[in-house]
Amino acid sequence: MRLLLLLSVFGMAASLEIIPFDEKFKYGETKGDFLGPSEWGRRWPQCDGRRQSPINIRTRRAINRRYRPLIMTFDTWRGLVTGTLKNTRHYPMLEIDEGRGAKLRGGPLRGTYTLKQFHFHFGCANSRGSEHTRNGRRFSGELHLVFKKTTARGDEFAVVALWVQLQKYLSILCNNANLADSDETVRFSDGIFIRGLIPRRCNKRFSRRAILNCYYTYKGSLTTPICSENVTWLIVKPWLPATNNMMRKFRRLETPAGKNPPLMCDNFRPVQPLNGRTVFEVHRI
Ligand SMILES: [Zn+2]
Repeated sequence: MRLLLLLSVFGMAASLEIIPFDEKFKYGETKGDFLGPSEWGRRWPQCDGRRQSPINIRTRRAINRRYRPLIMTFDTWRGLVTGTLKNTRHYPMLEIDEGRGAKLRGGPLRGTYTLKQFHFHFGCANSRGSEHTRNGRRFSGELHLVFKKTTARGDEFAVVALWVQLQKYLSILCNNANLADSDETVRFSDGIFIRGLIPRRCNKRFSRRAILNCYYTYKGSLTTPICSENVTWLIVKPWLPATNNMMRKFRRLETPAGKNPPLMCDNFRPVQPLNGRTVFEVHRI
């Protein structure tokens, strides 16, 4: 109830500025005015497009490709980012403070993209939660680092996706944040080192930048309505470990528009057809 009150106060406008976002959707079955994924296309035609996300990545079908190095440059030492934690009703999000984030360029990207927010998709059980699947396997969650570039023709996004899998050992993701108990936006001033989020065997680390060198990439869409097809996906190959404790924290989050209201978990869109697109694979240099 407190969350509902909060939603009406904040109007959930925060995420609108960054991602074109419409609130009248949910996961699972349609309920009243809130459409489930199978009906999103009725209200947002782009969700029925031919370059939608997420997809299942069939690793044997991915084509090896050499790009220029994909470089994440940090605004601060080791990529310490600060921001504001928000419950956007569909996922928990960390909105990054301006000038305290990161930039992304190279790889399959043209131009430079700026980090705007992180958010997290996760399951109600450990065996599900990720949006992208790997050879049909679903992970416990998927972290999206959303970078944006504004051009004369409109916005372009690059999303670095990190699969999250429940493991016994320590998690580095949001372990300071008391997400479940927050019924308002929370300053996240302790910060989080985004350099530390990219698994060590997949990047070359420097104090002010990291070179990502093992990922899958393809052209797709935002995975929430309006599902616009202006996203370059960069899915890091090794997954991040998460603890039961951390997943329990996320699973306590509530929303009236989840798959199993009041719980937010299972906030992932089903995989979409590839429709002839190619998934490229970048190996360690
Ligand atoms: Zn996402």
